[in-house]
Amino acid sequence: MGSRLGPLVRSTQLLSTRFISETVSSAAPTTTPLTDSTVDRIAIPPPVDSATELSRESHLRNRRKIIQAAIREKEKRSLLPPFEDNFGRKHTYLRIALTEKCNLRCLYCMPAEGVPLTPKPHLLTVDEIIRIVEVFAAHGMDKIRLTGGEPSVRKDFTEIVRRIKEVKGVTQIGVTTNGIAIGKRLQELRDAGLSQMNISLDSLNPEKYMMITRTNGFKKVMETIEKAEGIFDSVKVNVVVMKNVNDMEICDFIEMTKDRNLSVRFIEFMPFGGNKFTLNKFFSFKDMWQMVESRFGDSIYRLVDTPNDTTKAFRIRGYRGEFGFITSMTEHFCSSCNRVRVTADGNLKVCLHGNSEVSLRDVMRSGASNEELSETISQAVKRKKKQHAGVENLQHLKNRPMILIGG
Ligand code: SAM
Repeated sequence: MGSRLGPLVRSTQLLSTRFISETVSSAAPTTTPLTDSTVDRIAIPPPVDSATELSRESHLRNRRKIIQAAIREKEKRSLLPPFEDNFGRKHTYLRIALTEKCNLRCLYCMPAEGVPLTPKPHLLTVDEIIRIVEVFAAHGMDKIRLTGGEPSVRKDFTEIVRRIKEVKGVTQIGVTTNGIAIGKRLQELRDAGLSQMNISLDSLNPEKYMMITRTNGFKKVMETIEKAEGIFDSVKVNVVVMKNVNDMEICDFIEMTKDRNLSVRFIEFMPFGGNKFTLNKFFSFKDMWQMVESRFGDSIYRLVDTPNDTTKAFRIRGYRGEFGFITSMTEHFCSSCNRVRVTADGNLKVCLHGNSEVSLRDVMRSGASNEELSETISQAVKRKKKQHAGVENLQHLKNRPMILIGG
């Protein structure tokens, strides 16, 4: 790919004239002065088709998102300084793994034989998780994603969401789940404060799903996705794309967005410990784009990115949902990275693709105060590298299996 946008620029050049550079100031109510320059620069896309209710709805949703981001920005000014690294990146997004256990065995995530699990006393307790969330939130973290392992295997999952929701400053709580065992708890999770569901689904073919996940759960996941659409405003379907495994299903996944308010996101396959990554199995964004473009051509419509977005988002003209690409390997977004991760055993990872870790669990258990915990986090964030090492190098880097990180 020549430039950062590469084929996107070429293929969407014609479409670009359809974008309207309507600024936030004209979209916001007068009671909310929007002065943040980043927000001000965001263009809001025009309705797909001004005659339809749907286009008005998505237009409004974009406005709402931008206004909410500006309000959150304003609230943050009264907090402790954000955890900022040496490249000016402020960390306002925490991903926390609630468990190392999972009811699937996805081949891209863990070895077939599973992974040695950390003994329970060495895992974070719920109180320790909440304390970490409180310290981050005091420094301006407002968005949190619960992951694992499979977070829903925890019986106290809803209770954890409820407690996080009570932490001052946290405005968005999402989960990344495989959807197998969470279907019955969706409403209670919503009531507890969960606002966003990311559900992993790597094939629309039940046999292939079984081959990838080494488990028979296809029907349950499909039911969960359908139910979640009726409960949550935002439901995302995560697809890890692998060459000759599920690459040929990309356009079928996009067809799922025709009548459904879903956002399907295609994730480039990433190398991690024990997942047998090889470049032969890698299917790049460029490859995916060629496939999508040859099928949908000029009906592809580029959507607006919000700050710190990791997804290049699109819609097919006239379709209800969206789709996007998470191009961590071929077009990384390290320069706007605002996220850090805490593993189930309490290690802070400032980069998904770096192997340096700091045990917040040990710091807390040594009797440290919140100020000392903050200082530990702050020092670790300052050591964050400018960017990850690139797919060629990462495949040789010793890192945890993804199941023990949390994605
Ligand atoms: N159990 C949950 C689930 O299945 O979504 C949460 C944990 S899972 C590790 C979090 C996310 O990481 C999922 O969307 C999964 O597809 C993604 N993931 C795992 N291994 C990956 C890999 N090697 N490359 C890209 N994404 C990966």
